[in-house]
Amino acid sequence: MTNGREAAPTQLDTSRPHPARVYDWWLGGKDNYPVDEELGRKILAVDPAVRRGARANRRFMRKATRALAHAGVRQFLDVGTGIPTSPNLHQVAQEIVPAARVVYADNDPIVLRHAEALLQGTDEGVTDYVHADVRDVDAILSLASKTLDFDQPVALSLIAITHYLSEDPAVDDVYGLLKRYVDALAPGSHLVLSQVTPDLDPAAMERAATLFRRSGTPMHPRSRAEFSRFFDGMELLEPGVLPVSEWRPEEEDLAATAEGVVPVYAGVARKL
Ligand code: SAH
Repeated sequence: MTNGREAAPTQLDTSRPHPARVYDWWLGGKDNYPVDEELGRKILAVDPAVRRGARANRRFMRKATRALAHAGVRQFLDVGTGIPTSPNLHQVAQEIVPAARVVYADNDPIVLRHAEALLQGTDEGVTDYVHADVRDVDAILSLASKTLDFDQPVALSLIAITHYLSEDPAVDDVYGLLKRYVDALAPGSHLVLSQVTPDLDPAAMERAATLFRRSGTPMHPRSRAEFSRFFDGMELLEPGVLPVSEWRPEEEDLAATAEGVVPVYAGVARKL
């Protein structure tokens, strides 16, 4: 791995919960361990909106991918992919653009273990998987460039991952990190983001975030202004920054919004 960072470990650690596996438990998946379920349940008990948020977030990945594929995007780089949950991003994209090229990246060994499911695409298209930390921008871009042509537009997605990066610029310069990715993209590329927010129910989100942090996973909800800053210098697509369930809502989103708070912001922007 570059940047002096140690290679991401590939051994599963089932002694403490991992965000990919807790998220999988909220989504009703089977790729999680008792420690993950335990934290997932504890968080649900203090913030019942979390499961609704997880499901709506997964739908946002699909809505945004469909919208961009329909708009002619043919290349996708998805960092913080998560455990495969069908349909995955490449399946959504390749249903619309069979020749779509997709590169996934995640640093969790469990995602690596299940990466095979992320590599079964169309005959015309290509998918690849990179085991790396989102902070290793150079490594991810260089490995992805074996599959993607960065002289052509790419849809870069970091969906529900930026809240795991520190808000302390001395630890993680998240804005600088995103800028490095966006700088590497050709004009006409897109940035697809979602992340949890304290804006809609601050007390519940703080309880949930505290449980995550106590388990050893950093968790930094961001306000609408902080989240929107990620898109500085880019052109936000309609309808702008909104809770995931209100971003180009489908039937299930309308139901989720009617049920209550969906504490995850979403946005898609175009590089000019
Ligand atoms: N993007 C998917 C999964 C979100 S769960 C979706 O929205 O449905 C968050 C994912 O980010 C997990 O798979 C976790 O392993 C990954 N992740 C967290 N921190 C990371 C880091 N530093 N580098 C790479 N991936 C990371």
